[in-house]
Amino acid sequence: MKTNGKNKYLAFTGGVGGAKLCVGLSKILSAFEIAFVVNTGDDFTHLDFPICPDLDSLMYALSAENNEELGWGRKGETWNFLRSFAELGGENWFQLGDRDLAIHVMRKQLLREGLTLAEVTSELYQRFGISHAVLPMTNEQVSTKIQSQGELKSFQKYFVKEKCEPKIEKIVYHGSKHAKPVPAVLEKLRDPDLSGVVICPSNPFLSIDPILSLETIKSALLSLDVPVVAVSPIIYGSAVKGPTDKIMGELGFTQSALGVAEHYDNLITHFVLDNEDVNLCSEIEKLGLSVLVCNTLMKTLDDKTELADNVIKFIKNSFI
Ligand code: GDP
Repeated sequence: MKTNGKNKYLAFTGGVGGAKLCVGLSKILSAFEIAFVVNTGDDFTHLDFPICPDLDSLMYALSAENNEELGWGRKGETWNFLRSFAELGGENWFQLGDRDLAIHVMRKQLLREGLTLAEVTSELYQRFGISHAVLPMTNEQVSTKIQSQGELKSFQKYFVKEKCEPKIEKIVYHGSKHAKPVPAVLEKLRDPDLSGVVICPSNPFLSIDPILSLETIKSALLSLDVPVVAVSPIIYGSAVKGPTDKIMGELGFTQSALGVAEHYDNLITHFVLDNEDVNLCSEIEKLGLSVLVCNTLMKTLDDKTELADNVIKFIKNSFI
């Protein structure tokens, strides 16, 4: 196998979908070899608690604490708090499980003690026995907002309350212009030993673009001379879960892996798409991208590890 002698990777991810590949990557690469950069554009304050959906989804996935039946949240969840709160007339549109709530209470406590979000994240992940570095994209507030029917809505209103039904006209990453990335993100992007960057099969618009909305992250990515590989979250024209395909259509992109490749085109050098989409291969190669076709549907731990292995081999086999 060809190799450039370096062996450090960085993966950009959102929550549940991207986390599947992160689990695979964490199984084949040590904490020294890979770190994860996580979207915080979905973060919001609810009942006075700081909620970080993607950071928590990844924490549960990496520690095998994720709730497989629900497809989100924490394993073995109970709902006593939410039920009791609703009985008192409290709002219950956002599903706060008892076990999940403990994280938000702890996060609030640690933030109040003066820790940054990155420090709190590191503390919480350690308590979950996770040794890989997981970095929120920023310690500051960047909020994804959805413009629909002329109204600028909070992400959670659109995603949870309105179940992604309204047609999106535009997505705004409020605060991104002035927010600074967590310093370790830039340090890792500028590490001379960096071998490649993986853009996980997350929602490009709601999970990855908020990270890229931080100009210094985007420019650091653009100036890399190592592979930047995106894995398609769209298989055979559909999202495995969630509104990615619907949003692509609404924003004028082709609802396919090709549309994803076109969206990331100037930022990436390599693209991974599913066996089901092999017919799109030559069109994606015409964009100037190196393409890998393999199974990208991750149902089991073996699927996750196998895809991670394919992605890393794809990087190792490439010289730009
Ligand atoms: P969220 O923040 O929880 O919405 O999760 P992400 O943004 O990280 O991931 C959402 C995306 O993951 C959706 O577009 C799904 O199509 C994609 N996804 C989920 N499971 C899989 C899978 O097994 N394979 C691939 N290729 N994509 C997946």
